Amino acid sequence: MSTPEAPSTADSAHARLPTPDAVNLIGLDLDGLASFCAGLGEKRFRAVQLFRWIHQKGEHDFDSMTDLARSLREKLKGRAVVQALPVASEQASRDGTIKWLFDVGGGDAVETVFIPEDDRATLCISSQAGCAVGCRFCSTGHQGFSRNLSTGEILAQIWYAEHHLRRRLGLPAGQRVISNVVMMGMGEPLQNYSALVPALRVMLDDHGYGLSRRRVTVSTSGVVPMMGRLQQDCPVALAVSLHAPNDGLRDDLVPLNRKYPLVELLGACASYLDAAPRDFITFEYCMLDGVNDSDDHAKQLVALIRGRVACKFNLIPFNPFPQSGLKCSPRERVEAFARILQEAGFVATIRKTRGDDIDAACGQLAGEVQDRTRVKERWVRILSPRLATQRETTPAGHAGAQPNVLQESSGEHQ
Ligand code: SAH
Ligand code: SF4
Repeated sequence: MSTPEAPSTADSAHARLPTPDAVNLIGLDLDGLASFCAGLGEKRFRAVQLFRWIHQKGEHDFDSMTDLARSLREKLKGRAVVQALPVASEQASRDGTIKWLFDVGGGDAVETVFIPEDDRATLCISSQAGCAVGCRFCSTGHQGFSRNLSTGEILAQIWYAEHHLRRRLGLPAGQRVISNVVMMGMGEPLQNYSALVPALRVMLDDHGYGLSRRRVTVSTSGVVPMMGRLQQDCPVALAVSLHAPNDGLRDDLVPLNRKYPLVELLGACASYLDAAPRDFITFEYCMLDGVNDSDDHAKQLVALIRGRVACKFNLIPFNPFPQSGLKCSPRERVEAFARILQEAGFVATIRKTRGDDIDAACGQLAGEVQDRTRVKERWVRILSPRLATQRETTPAGHAGAQPNVLQESSGEHQ
């Protein structure tokens, strides 16, 4: 990507020459960074300073970290780097949504989507290059699995987006852009658990991105054992991709259901909420014409969930792609489906379509690399007033929804 302005720290970090054997500090949580610093004979407070330079100020150049002792800066050089991911492309939608494609090497690329709204700005992050689950309606699933992203590659997405946008918008020091994160890009986050958890910790860390745990959502197709571990290790908001009200249909749409059928999945959802009874699970349900969208399916869903799990439903209009052979349910069908859920007492929202003109849907970008940086002026015009009104509210997809009220939500990645 090339931007007309002078390269910023966030933009230039990936251009640095890699140093063999140097540790990329972007990928360490605070404890990891403290251990690394201890190995250099440095105290924990030095690690905190370094961590804040990296994640709060977006700095990659050790020489610019002015309050670090010169001796530490010298030790870091050659042993460590702060290295971002190269941006393969950027696309900006007329609604303010921005999608970046990051090059993760070996011919793989992953996407990250920024979705500004009146009351929040959500970043949708990828966890894997491709995905092994292979859901029928998902273009990432159709691409197959390439590899897990490292913690550094997961964090490089928020690092770049936050600091690049701050500079691009000319925000004063300390003013944050991203208010919510959803792990709803490419990949199944709970199949990359060991890289995911330290990344979540950095997002939540007050010295890092300082997001509350309700503003960070992990979305899963239902990796049951890892749901239990996430509750223990880092209980952020959980979205579960349901998509079907019975095992027969879910086996077909989400093949992981054959391993972890609905009874186990719903048990894991209920247990996830045990430690935090005020929380709820967001059930995602992709509306597929003639497949899972009938009145009967909605009634089955009510019978399946009622009394079992505190939840809300987020109905997602299917974003079609040629190989799927599937179509999106007509709008009236989606609304009728939502009404049945609402009349049964559930909160059910219909996800607003965002970034339509740039295909900002799961797995839709990788493969079609484009450069549309000339839309920058328009983008700033659209985005600046939105961000100016950004304020603290409820988490992505949990937009203060009231029971029995049909409303649109785009808090989660479309
Ligand atoms: N693997 C995780 C997170 C990434 S997918 C999961 O499945 O939950 C994020 C969301 O996008 C999921 O709810 C998924 O079902 C949905 N999705 C995937 N492909 C889609 C498409 N073509 N149209 C609409 N939603 C889609
Ligand atoms: Fe993987 Fe999620 Fe796509 Fe299913 S919907 S293939 S789990 S990324």
